[in-house]
Amino acid sequence: MKGILYDTFKGQPKLTSLPDPAAPDHGVVLEVLATGMCRSDWHGWMGHDPDIVLPHVPGHEIAGRIIEVGNKVRNFKTGERVTLPFVCGCGSCRECQSGNQQVCDYQSQPGFTHWGSFAEKVRIDYADNNLVRLPDNISNEAAAALGCRFITAFRAVVDQAALKKNERIAIFGCGGVGLSAIMIAKALEAEIIAIDINEQALQLAKEVGAHHAINASGRKDVAALVKDISIGGVEVSIDALGSQITSINSIDSLKKRGRHI
Ligand SMILES: [Zn+2]
Ligand SMILES: [Zn+2]
Repeated sequence: MKGILYDTFKGQPKLTSLPDPAAPDHGVVLEVLATGMCRSDWHGWMGHDPDIVLPHVPGHEIAGRIIEVGNKVRNFKTGERVTLPFVCGCGSCRECQSGNQQVCDYQSQPGFTHWGSFAEKVRIDYADNNLVRLPDNISNEAAAALGCRFITAFRAVVDQAALKKNERIAIFGCGGVGLSAIMIAKALEAEIIAIDINEQALQLAKEVGAHHAINASGRKDVAALVKDISIGGVEVSIDALGSQITSINSIDSLKKRGRHI
């Protein structure tokens, strides 16, 4: 198969011929139909992830078609179009059994623990526990975005923050996770304040559902602005970037008994 490989961290990736993956007993091989690129791929390439063994093929945001099935897989067959979460759980450890597959003790991640989806084919482990069938009305490109940024945002907004209709939410950072959080908050009928330092990102935020947009570039009063707009602070704030300043502003934007994620 063809794939994109790098031999050294921070080195030039190259398009090259690679050996095809094989399906393990509990796994499958997918033909890659679409793949996303995200900040985690950059972290891997920089050498920040100890799971990566060189040479390496990155890529973990995938829509694919099953082309080979291991002999212990019960629920999937060749030809089906599927996607998967960023972290693939084993399905049987204590964390998986408690519904926290994202911290599975035996997790696998294409593009980190083994070669990923910047290739024509990719191996997926524990297929019965991780694959999700795609309905015809979800495109390959949209599906490739679901398993990483979208489920990260979904877990934050729906499960951890438990955002409710008519609550106010401030979302700091309008990249992949932030924009996904805005779409999910809109579906929950919340009032959304988007904050970023990039005007283009804020424009996108408004297009996907933000009611208010704050350009924080050069401003020191961002939390006060959020409190003005929300008349006293928001019920939920999300730091979708992960920096000291967005974390502090996010917490400072809350009303009494607000929830920060
Ligand atoms: Zn990702
Ligand atoms: Zn597990």
